[in-house]
Amino acid sequence: MQLDDHAEDLASDLGVDKAEVKDDLQSLLEYNVPVEEAKASIRRKHGGDGGSSATPTTRSLADVTPDDGSVTTTVRVLTKGTRSIRYQGEDRVIREGEFADDTGRISYTAWEEFDFEPGDSITVGNANVREWEGNPELNLGTNTTVAAAGEAVETPYEVGGDRDLIDLEPGDRGRTVEVTVVDLERRTIDGRDGETEILSGVVADESARLPLTDWDPHAEVEAGSSVRLSDVYVREYRGVPQVNVTEYSTVERLDRTVEAPDTAPRLDIGEAVDAGGLFDVELVGNVIQVRDGSGLIERCPDCGRVVQNGQCRSHGDVEGDDDLRVKAILDDGTGTVTAVLGTDLTAEVYGGGIEDAKTAARDAMDKEVVADTIRDRIVGREYRVRGSLSVDEYGANLDAEEFVESADDPAARARELLAGVAR
Ligand SMILES: [Zn+2]
Repeated sequence: MQLDDHAEDLASDLGVDKAEVKDDLQSLLEYNVPVEEAKASIRRKHGGDGGSSATPTTRSLADVTPDDGSVTTTVRVLTKGTRSIRYQGEDRVIREGEFADDTGRISYTAWEEFDFEPGDSITVGNANVREWEGNPELNLGTNTTVAAAGEAVETPYEVGGDRDLIDLEPGDRGRTVEVTVVDLERRTIDGRDGETEILSGVVADESARLPLTDWDPHAEVEAGSSVRLSDVYVREYRGVPQVNVTEYSTVERLDRTVEAPDTAPRLDIGEAVDAGGLFDVELVGNVIQVRDGSGLIERCPDCGRVVQNGQCRSHGDVEGDDDLRVKAILDDGTGTVTAVLGTDLTAEVYGGGIEDAKTAARDAMDKEVVADTIRDRIVGREYRVRGSLSVDEYGANLDAEEFVESADDPAARARELLAGVAR
């Protein structure tokens, strides 16, 4: 349904002016309040009971679709995370996590305090269904009831939020991780309540390294310490999952050291891309192409974006600053990523700095000679690349910190050479 239809619905139900209802609805939706909850809130404001006219249907989780207005379902609580959001100018504590039964699992958001914990089997009555990124999600609001289920709900899914860092995904709530803090700084930010101190750093376990923010600095979170972080949430930050510790999280110092290898985990490219973004990873593959926009480029002095034909996408006509960059497509047979090399790494593979590149471009009267030189050097060769992988609408990009010609497997190299000779 469109905003207009929802407003029409409400206005006729409540017998009030549609324009007024629509304004209220719009401002609630801007705060990411789900539409059914927003409508209930407006009904209450106009003296209604906030009830939805639809009768809930009893459903197994596999059968819940966004078309069900509201459902009643009997489930096992897998996880429960706590977070506060600002809602109509007030901070409101919400709970989020996953329910499951023997047919599937579903994410939920509870807008009220309900009495359930991970592991409990419960019947959730009259929960609203909304769609989030193509999947149905349950919203538990003022009209929802929660009661203990008659018997334990069987489910193939694991109860609890314990995860390895490599398994965390943006959108995860109520997760628990055991990590070593490898890097940490105290920062002052301009938050929603003015200047706030936060901790910002990197955590690691045996499986991966990820950026961390502690929004409510805990004394136990300090560089070098091994800690158990319970009830953390994960969001995407610059294309990779970030661990977020809040005032609702529990931080306990561990009496063991969580091993955090210095090296980044080595993954197949396909596997890494499927993981959906990794903060620090090592990939090995052949450079199959150096993309346009490599070599000698110009950046906007205001925002750093690449300038094309003297135009910045945000700042229009600008006098660009010269820079060096490589965008190299890396392929290992399981998938491809674009490795992005900054100024220094590009200078290394080019064999000269910005001034050398400008001289070469002037001599040839063509900037493209710089990219061509780089192409000649690296296309067809195998590289080991370490960096931060982001996967989003711009594709899979690996922001390279190391870019080294691979000498990993001399036997394979010899076989390749022999195959070349025999050809
Ligand atoms: Zn700009």
